[in-house]
Amino acid sequence: MIISVIGAGYVGLVTAAGLARNGHSVICIDVDDLKVNAINQGVSPICEAGLDDLLSSLTSRSGRLRASTAYREILDTDLSLICVGTPSNSDGSINLRHIRDAAKRIGQVLGSKKSYHVVATRSTIIPGTTKDVIIPLLAKYSGRKPGKDIGIVYNPEFLQEGKAVQAFFSPDRIIIGELDKRAGNLLAKVYGDIEAPVFRTDITTAEMIKYASNAFLATKISFINEVANICQKLGVDVYDVAKGLSFDYRIGDKFLSAGIGFGGSCLPKDLRALVYASANRFGYPPPLLKAVLDVNKAQALKIIDIAERKLGDLDGKRIAVLGLAFKPNTDDVRDAPAIRIIRVLLEKGALVKAYDPEAMQNARNVLPGGVEYCTSAADAIASSDCILIVTEWAEFRDENLYQSKIVIDGRRALDPRKAKAVCDYQGVCW
Ligand code: NAD
Repeated sequence: MIISVIGAGYVGLVTAAGLARNGHSVICIDVDDLKVNAINQGVSPICEAGLDDLLSSLTSRSGRLRASTAYREILDTDLSLICVGTPSNSDGSINLRHIRDAAKRIGQVLGSKKSYHVVATRSTIIPGTTKDVIIPLLAKYSGRKPGKDIGIVYNPEFLQEGKAVQAFFSPDRIIIGELDKRAGNLLAKVYGDIEAPVFRTDITTAEMIKYASNAFLATKISFINEVANICQKLGVDVYDVAKGLSFDYRIGDKFLSAGIGFGGSCLPKDLRALVYASANRFGYPPPLLKAVLDVNKAQALKIIDIAERKLGDLDGKRIAVLGLAFKPNTDDVRDAPAIRIIRVLLEKGALVKAYDPEAMQNARNVLPGGVEYCTSAADAIASSDCILIVTEWAEFRDENLYQSKIVIDGRRALDPRKAKAVCDYQGVCW
C-alpha cells in the first residue's frame, strides 16, 4: 500500500518507519523543513531507540520511506494517517490548530482525487473531534462525501517514548474506530503483519479508549504517590508495599513506581484536556481525575521542600539537577518535572547545574537563562551543595558518584541502603 503520514514527530515518524519496514511505501508530510531534510538523509530528528537504524535502511537502501513538505503528494497514496501534535491551551483544553490545518489541507488535495481514499487520525483528540471537526473540514475542502468517497478512521497510538519502535511491532492492541466498514477493513489490512488483538468499534468510542487509557495510567501513578506519602509518615517503604500489591493479578506491577510524578507529552496534557472537556463541554466535572492532577502537581515540588529542609534558604546554593527528559531514553522535555523544578529553583535564587545525556538542547530551548549546563553527571555533582535525581537514567544509578554529598532521589534511582552508606541520601517519598 502507498501511505502518507502527516506529521513526522514521535508518533508519525515511528509509524511511518514501522509501516515502511513492513513493506509499505510511505511518505511523511511535515511542515518542518529541518525534519524533512533529516529524514531524507536517513537521520532521525528525534531520539528514539532503533529509529536511526530503521531510517537509514529504509530511506537510502530500500527507498520505501521519504519525506516532503508538499501536501499534494497525498494524491498518489491510498491512506493518510494524521499524526500532528495536539498541545494544551493555557486553560488545559486541547489545541486543535494542527489538526484543523492538516484536515483542511488534506481535504484540498483530495478534492482533485477521483478514487476512494482513507483518512485515519492517530493523534490524541478529545472524543467528538473526528465527527465535529475533522469530518466537516474534509467534506468542506474536498467537496467529497466522508464515509463514502473518503473513508474515515480513528486509530489511536499507545506508544511509550523510548520503546516506541518496539511498541509499533508488538503493540498490546490495535484499536480501529471506523465510520465506514471499508475504511476499517483497509486499516486492518495495513496492520495485517502485526500480531495483536484488533478491536473494531465506532470513532467516538475509539477516541475515548485513548483518553481512558492515559487517565488510568496517570491515576495509578498518583495513587501510588499518595500511598507513598502516607507510608513515609508511617516509616514504611512504599516500594515494599508496591511489591506486595503487584502479586495481585488485578493490580499488576506496572506504573506503581512512587516518586515525583508523571510528565511527558501525553499524560499531563491528555488528562488536563479530558478534565477540561468533561467539565466544560460534556457537563461532568470529574473529581477523581482532577485529584490525579492535583496530587501530581504537588508531588514534583516535594523534592524542593526536602532540599530546603536540608540546606535552608536555597538562595545562592549550588543545586545539581540530574535528568531533564521526562523519563530515561528520550530527549523529550515536554511537561517534564525537571523543567518545573528548575524554574522554581531559579525563582528561589539557587544556582542550577543541570545534566542530561540526551535532552540538554531541548531543555535549553524551554528553560530561562541562568542554568549551567554540565558535560557529565560528575561535572554537575562536583562543587554542588545538593543533588536532585529527577530522571532515572542508567548512568545516574551508581551510588559511588555521590560520595559524601547530599542526594535527594526523586525516582528511586539508587538503592537507599547502599546510597545511605556513601552519602546523605533522602528519597522523595520513601
Ligand atoms: P510531535 O510534536 O513530536 O510531532 C508532531 C509533528 O507534526 C511535528 O513534526 C510538526 O512539525 C508536525 N506538524 C504540525 N502541524 C502540521 C501540519 N499542519 N501538517 C504537517 N505536519 C504538521 O508530536 P507527537 O509526540 O508525535 O504527538 C503527535 C500526536 O500523537 C499527539 O496528539 C499526541 O498526543 C499523540 N501521542 C503521542 C505519543 C507520544 O508518546 N509522543 C503517544 C501516543 C499519542
